[in-house]
Amino acid sequence: MIVGAGSAGAVLANRLTEDGRTTVILLEAGGEATSFLVQLPVGFLRLLMRKEYDWSYEAEPDPSLGGRSWIWSAGRMLGGSSSINGQVYIRGTAHDFDQWAEMGATGWSFREILLISCARSIGWGRRPRRTDRPGRSRSPRYATRIPSATPS
Ligand SMILES: Cc1cc2nc3c(=O)[nH]c(=O)nc-3n(C[C@H](O)[C@H](O)[C@H](O)COP(=O)(O)OP(=O)(O)OC[C@H]3O[C@@H](n4cnc5c(N)ncnc54)[C@H](O)[C@@H]3O)c2cc1C
Repeated sequence: MIVGAGSAGAVLANRLTEDGRTTVILLEAGGEATSFLVQLPVGFLRLLMRKEYDWSYEAEPDPSLGGRSWIWSAGRMLGGSSSINGQVYIRGTAHDFDQWAEMGATGWSFREILLISCARSIGWGRRPRRTDRPGRSRSPRYATRIPSATPS
């Protein structure tokens, strides 16, 4: 039984049932992600703070904010926060992945992660560019390298 059909829960349910024999129950507190605002790249801005789509958690009062509390958005529908996120993709640094592998996370070195098909399919590694057919490509609209993010 998996509680929450968000980014992690949905992927986990998919992986666990890959063999065709395993059955899982995936429970989701929110509704379906059918609003066109979910599909629209910046549509999520119109979904924030709407209780049927956004949990809008209220954080504890923070002394460093003069006792004010902050609202934390989190998706409340199929897809969870991935249904209201900004679709910004940032790969972690090679150093972090390699360190996890050294600590025993077999298969998580940066080189091994690079082989994951989804990373390849978005065209990472090509030079930064704007796609020639916006909206029709599976690649990101913009790709930018941030060299200083990787320690030398
Ligand atoms: C506004 C916003 C913008 C973001 N922008 C980006 C971005 O541009 N790039 C990026 O990489 N990341 C972004 N993120 C972060 C990213 O979306 C999250 O880190 C990621 O989706 C979290 O995945 P998760 O599986 O941990 O949780 P979620 O995807 O939030 O899934 C949790 C699920 O559990 C459900 N749930 C909760 N309680 C219960 C319950 N009691 N019973 C049943 N179901 C329950 C929820 O409804 C939800 O569907 C953004 C997040 C937000 C909120």
